[in-house]
Amino acid sequence: MSTLNTNIDRLNGYLARFQDTGIQNLINGQTVPAASGVTFDTTSPVDESVICSVARSSAADVDAAAEAAKAAFPAWRDMPALERKKILIKIAEGIEARAEEIAFCECWDTGQALRFMSKAALRGAENFRFFADQVTAARDGKNLQSPTLMNVTTRVPIGPVGVITPWNTPFMLSTWKIAPALAAGCTVVHKPAEFSPLTARILAEIAHEAGLPDGVWNLVNGFGEDAGKRLTEHPAIKAVAFVGESRTGSLITKQGADTLKRLHLELGGKNPVVVFEDADLERALDAVIFMIYSINGERCTSSSRLLVQDSIREEFEAKLIERVNNIRVGHPLDPATEIGPLIAQEHFDKVTSYFDIAKEDGATVAAGGVTVGDAGFFVRPTLFTGAHNKMRIAQEEIFGPVLTSIPFATEEEALEMANDTDYGLTGYVWTADLTRALRFTNHLEAGMIWVNSENVRHLPTPFGGVKASGIGRDGGDWSFDFYMEQKHIGFALGQHKIPRLGA
Ligand code: NAD
Repeated sequence: MSTLNTNIDRLNGYLARFQDTGIQNLINGQTVPAASGVTFDTTSPVDESVICSVARSSAADVDAAAEAAKAAFPAWRDMPALERKKILIKIAEGIEARAEEIAFCECWDTGQALRFMSKAALRGAENFRFFADQVTAARDGKNLQSPTLMNVTTRVPIGPVGVITPWNTPFMLSTWKIAPALAAGCTVVHKPAEFSPLTARILAEIAHEAGLPDGVWNLVNGFGEDAGKRLTEHPAIKAVAFVGESRTGSLITKQGADTLKRLHLELGGKNPVVVFEDADLERALDAVIFMIYSINGERCTSSSRLLVQDSIREEFEAKLIERVNNIRVGHPLDPATEIGPLIAQEHFDKVTSYFDIAKEDGATVAAGGVTVGDAGFFVRPTLFTGAHNKMRIAQEEIFGPVLTSIPFATEEEALEMANDTDYGLTGYVWTADLTRALRFTNHLEAGMIWVNSENVRHLPTPFGGVKASGIGRDGGDWSFDFYMEQKHIGFALGQHKIPRLGA
């Protein structure tokens, strides 16, 4: 039996329970259907088969979840930090124990290749361990003495929070948001993406098995326009951490206005990778390929715009075409697969529409530009050359394995093109000239920049974007800044003079 067949067999074992019961909500520790009884089907992008039914929640379900999170908040907030820490570590252990199940379900639900998803499950555990270690210091503050007062600061959890996640790497992103919220002492209502609900359910179960009190973590499935919208409007929810498209981020900002929601928005990108002629071209080539074709190109930090110096363009593009044509598209559970299917029909239609848009705009389809097979949403990794930065393929987030290559002559021109975009999530710069790297990164408009490296996530560093790529930062203490409130308390040191009115 091939490894693929063995993996499919094991996947079927993991899926059986979902097929029996469907995916229901988890509110106040109870597994419950949507109050209306309405469900929707989730399908696999591999063969378009139905995986199971999922609760389609409406305002009533979100209200119940938000009330449960509100009721659970005081006890969770006041639980001794070391006890909360123990629970977070047990969640990490639970994830590790079920890493294969999580990875296999994620692959089947999202179309992501196993080679990347097995690591995503373990990174999820790492997120819990990292924030578990920060629990005891999260509330620490400062002592800021003035002549008359001893001023102390402390941080307190903001309250129940909403977490809304997308479908591209749903497990990892959910842990990334929920782990710091719990560590801070907040309670959570999580609304996962409708296209990929499987692993959010597994994660919430693991948390409860780890001893998380009822109501601290509530899972509400459903669509953005009803369940998601209500979560952003509910008065008991004090903050919303959102990952998704820029236009949804803007909708959420409006929806949250009446209740003055604190928002953290992690949105789209059209990230440049700039390759100068003096760079280590072999390493640059590996990184360029990895950062757009891994995770099916369904990656907010992907380097979807290659800006390449014209003196090396021909050679670099020739090598790129050869490698791109070698990339293995296939079943996500086949360990050899490098690219799986795109998430869903509507996303497949969007990505493939750019094959024509590129040609209409006068670019060349130098590799790919075709779909693969009759079932599922497979495309060949695609490279557009002969492009310029004003084309739609250079400006719009395609969110698939599609790279647009654009030549530049000078450093000034490269910088101008790199910044000429609505987005500003990441940037990648390849050069052997240190002074140029310092100069260039100083002016590059992006929340995160890597020099002579692909994106390597280090949890203590700030993650987030500028411009249409978002507002706010994750990671290290920045996560606590979002989930907590600063509180100042001033203690009089003596009998300082108090202004006397009406005396
Ligand atoms: P999306 O915005 O369509 O959906 C994201 C989530 O928001 C889903 O759970 C959806 O149900 C919900 N939603 C939709 N409308 C809503 C509304 N009106 N109110 C409340 N919730 C609503 O995004 P997607 O297509 O699932 O994900 C892909 C996008 O996510 C890409 O643009 C990608 O760049 C971005 N992304 C960003 C990051 C980052 O860290 N910056 C990471 C991953 C993905």
